[in-house]
Amino acid sequence: MNTPVDVLIIGAGASGAAVAWSLADTRMRIVCLEQGDWVKSTEFPSNGRDWEARQFDDFSTSPNRRRNAADYPINDDDSPIKVVNFNGVGGGTILYAGHFPRLHPSDFRVRTLDGIADDWPVDYPTLEPWFALNDRMMGIASLAGDPAYPPKDAVLPPLPLGRTGTTLGRAMNRLGWHWWAADSAMATRDYEGRARCINLGHCIAGCAQGAKASTDLTYWPQAIRQRVELRTRCRVREIGVDERGMASGAVYFDADGVEHFQPAEIVILACNGVGTPRILLNSVSGRFPNGLANSSGLVGRNLMFHPYASIRGWFDDPLDGHRGPHIGTWSQQFYETDGSRGFVRGYTYQFVRGQGPVVTAMTGMATGRIPWGDGHHDAYRQLFDRSAGMVAICEDLPEEHNTVTLDPSLKDAHGIPAPKITYRLGENSRRMLEHAVARGVEILRAAGARDIVSEAPLPNAGWHLLGTARMGRDPARSVVNEWGRSHDVKNLFVVDGSVFVTSGGVNPTSTIQALALYVADCIKQRLSNLFD
Ligand SMILES: Cc1cc2nc3c(=O)[nH]c(=O)nc-3n(C[C@H](O)[C@H](O)[C@H](O)COP(=O)(O)OP(=O)(O)OC[C@H]3O[C@@H](n4cnc5c(N)ncnc54)[C@H](O)[C@@H]3O)c2cc1C
Ligand code: SF4
Repeated sequence: MNTPVDVLIIGAGASGAAVAWSLADTRMRIVCLEQGDWVKSTEFPSNGRDWEARQFDDFSTSPNRRRNAADYPINDDDSPIKVVNFNGVGGGTILYAGHFPRLHPSDFRVRTLDGIADDWPVDYPTLEPWFALNDRMMGIASLAGDPAYPPKDAVLPPLPLGRTGTTLGRAMNRLGWHWWAADSAMATRDYEGRARCINLGHCIAGCAQGAKASTDLTYWPQAIRQRVELRTRCRVREIGVDERGMASGAVYFDADGVEHFQPAEIVILACNGVGTPRILLNSVSGRFPNGLANSSGLVGRNLMFHPYASIRGWFDDPLDGHRGPHIGTWSQQFYETDGSRGFVRGYTYQFVRGQGPVVTAMTGMATGRIPWGDGHHDAYRQLFDRSAGMVAICEDLPEEHNTVTLDPSLKDAHGIPAPKITYRLGENSRRMLEHAVARGVEILRAAGARDIVSEAPLPNAGWHLLGTARMGRDPARSVVNEWGRSHDVKNLFVVDGSVFVTSGGVNPTSTIQALALYVADCIKQRLSNLFD
């Protein structure tokens, strides 16, 4: 048996890294188990000319397509939105686009404001110091003064607007709608050992330059210097419980497939909104027959993605093409509830650049814009470097029938039952997507696009995995309390996106990490009487 530790963290992604770094200053013995490995920057597709092709292969965003040793299969046949992720040190931040908005103050109070779902047990002012600390740790580029948010400081200068930002920004000015430089997790100047962004523009294929703030570059080196032990290629099967009903540690398989038990005083789950309920549901015992921390029956329920709409147009003049971070500006014009729109809550537009050469060719052929034979090359030239548009990221409401459960037959390489996703697009989301497409077309027309296409919901866009172990004060209606501790098991915590009560209409990682830092601080403040 392994030597007992004070804190066992499971998952080394966005939240696992933040909680490990924060707890490191207690000098407790901390071990993190991560099923994936470190990713070397020399291995990123962006080093080679086949960077686009590899995004359909070993660097696909889909674990079911990638099938690397670190991946586990996910049955998402019963969902119009498919799960995408990355398993390894850094988790999803290895592949993420680095778009880094915070939830808005209103997102924490939707029951009070709009009579839907539930209010969060924490609010924006409580999290504000942790948002700010996380912005410094990750090195966030932004432009202070965004009227859509309470005041906040900029850590690094914003990304350049480029031709795309300028073209779409002018259109927004014509319409009189809000837009602003996006908060982005890209170093716009050299920062804390990270080289500045050189606009390679392959962020979702990993950033070989090291400019994008993935947690293998931000939190982890500092946590490891403070003696946190990060054990890679260790896949957790289940959390053990002792005779008092407390978490006793975790059963895991090492790189050679050998089973171990790691005993611990405190267990912290940071495996994201699919990986965390999977482990809890796999942790069945006489005392917890329906899975650990599941007396409410809510583990795995209320799964929220963010349904996405994509609206893209082609322009006569060349734009920036695909180079540079994909998203440089945003609009929060349609974020808050407006009863006249026919849906509650709202969405963010992320304005996006063009597509790479191969994807331009593939979509051009698939949509009939590029013919074979005469005119083939001319048609391609009319598309390449001439497209821009936006995606709308829509607030997804929590609905108990949207679930992560255990698949009855599908298993991973270690024989551990795999997750199964059951998800239906809600009527509110459907109306919101329609609205977002209609307004997006208006924006692109105002910008001078000659040809516009849209798609909603985007099928391969299940990158935000939220709500499956929600936080709350009432043990009957939530899995963890207001500081991330399981209502049922007092030394068990959850810090990833599973704890979200509602999804907001923005990308979640900034808020996930702020919550992880907040939970770590709550643990530190209560160390002397943590389990009273
Ligand atoms: C292509 C893509 C683009 C994205 N773009 C954005 C964006 O622009 N902005 C944004 O805010 N978010 C974005 N995201 C989402 C973002 O990556 C996630 O919100 C974030 O990483 C979630 O953090 P987490 O700590 O909850 O989980 P993760 O970062 O997913 O980390 C979970 C870790 O747990 C490990 N794990 C899981 N199960 C086990 C187990 N049984 N044993 C051991 N280890 C385990 C996994 O290997 C993984 O490393 C994107 C994601 C993808 C895939
Ligand atoms: S655009 Fe910048 S952040 Fe993105 S991959 Fe290139 S260097 Fe990295």
